[in-house]
Amino acid sequence: MKRDYYEVLGVSRSADKDEIKKAYRKLALKYHPDKNPDNKDAEEKFKEANEAYEVLSNDDKRRRYDQFGHAGVGSSAASGGGPGGAGYGDINDIFSAFNDMFGGGGGRARSGGSPFGGFEDVFGGGFSGGGGGRRRSAGIHGTDLKIRLKLTLEEIAKGVEKTLKIKKQVTCQECNGSGSKSGKTETCPTCHGSGEVRQATKTMFGQFVNVAVCPTCGGEGHVVKDRCTSCYGEGIKQGETTVKITVPAGVQDGNYLTLQGQGNAGPRGGASGDLIVVIEEKPHEQFKRNGDDIIYDLPVGFPDLVMGTKIDVPTLEGHVKLTVPAGTQPNTMLRIVGKGIGHLRGGGSGDLYVRVNVFVPKDVSGKDRDLLKELKKSSDICPNHGDENHEKSIFEKAKDIFS
Ligand SMILES: [Zn+2]
Ligand SMILES: [Zn+2]
Repeated sequence: MKRDYYEVLGVSRSADKDEIKKAYRKLALKYHPDKNPDNKDAEEKFKEANEAYEVLSNDDKRRRYDQFGHAGVGSSAASGGGPGGAGYGDINDIFSAFNDMFGGGGGRARSGGSPFGGFEDVFGGGFSGGGGGRRRSAGIHGTDLKIRLKLTLEEIAKGVEKTLKIKKQVTCQECNGSGSKSGKTETCPTCHGSGEVRQATKTMFGQFVNVAVCPTCGGEGHVVKDRCTSCYGEGIKQGETTVKITVPAGVQDGNYLTLQGQGNAGPRGGASGDLIVVIEEKPHEQFKRNGDDIIYDLPVGFPDLVMGTKIDVPTLEGHVKLTVPAGTQPNTMLRIVGKGIGHLRGGGSGDLYVRVNVFVPKDVSGKDRDLLKELKKSSDICPNHGDENHEKSIFEKAKDIFS
């Protein structure tokens, strides 16, 4: 079972970025493998702190974590693996994550050698200087793809695994995504490899130089040679793919899951965008949802309310027998524990509330009518019928007129 990220860092859920950074730094220094050689426990703690920091220091990831817990971040949501599937398998991954986090000086850790080699540099320099501006990967990123996923209340109650076919940009098979038949590139003739174009503008305040991304190569600095005819040199083309989506129990309309790297493929070897799955809840014919509880309206005949009865009621998974106790009042909520929606953060489910209403027939036959008239005479049944004639004057007259 994965520990709560806030607990790992020892900060409150409302901790700001500074607190999170400080807490993480303390732990990272304490458990750093250089200081704890051959200490598996320290290594685990180090990884755990890194993972927690990676999520909580990123606004978007933190929001997803707050919303969905571990299922909302990392590879468990992306790959459909079970709980605990998220995180870094290997310590090398942590260091490449470090480099992305702190920027600057990352080359050593990433490019082989000791995985810890670059650490002090990155750690020391990263916090104070920031560095920043480093790109996660070469090339142009694929765009994010957003899809809507309609789910029934039954699916939401238990969580569900969906396999969907989606149309998206995929890597061109002809050129392996390079965009070139021969796989060769050449320096961009427009920007001469810098990826930028400069444009001088004269104004009354003097000359300004605008720097913009090169329109020819999109900032890559090189263009493909021998364009692939299948993808027109883009390295990507329209295709279809199958994705498996694991939706945890308890999601709500408008919630979304982000499947990292499952969006549109990036042109010419660039990283793929994300696939964003927006949850849509189909209205249910019988149940209303209230948080993780569901409500079912049950009309019960007056005699059954008075004397009590057992009634079959539907749940999201089959029927159950519900005891309506003698003397049950209208609008009473009877609770069936655990038959609601599974909690998003795990650990149990909401409840099913059966709202008991009185069934009032719109019309009654002669015999029933006689019985009702008989009942009416008892003040235990009709406590406030008051002036018999008055009632007659209103109800009976009305009945006579309309019938
Ligand atoms: Zn191609
Ligand atoms: Zn260029």
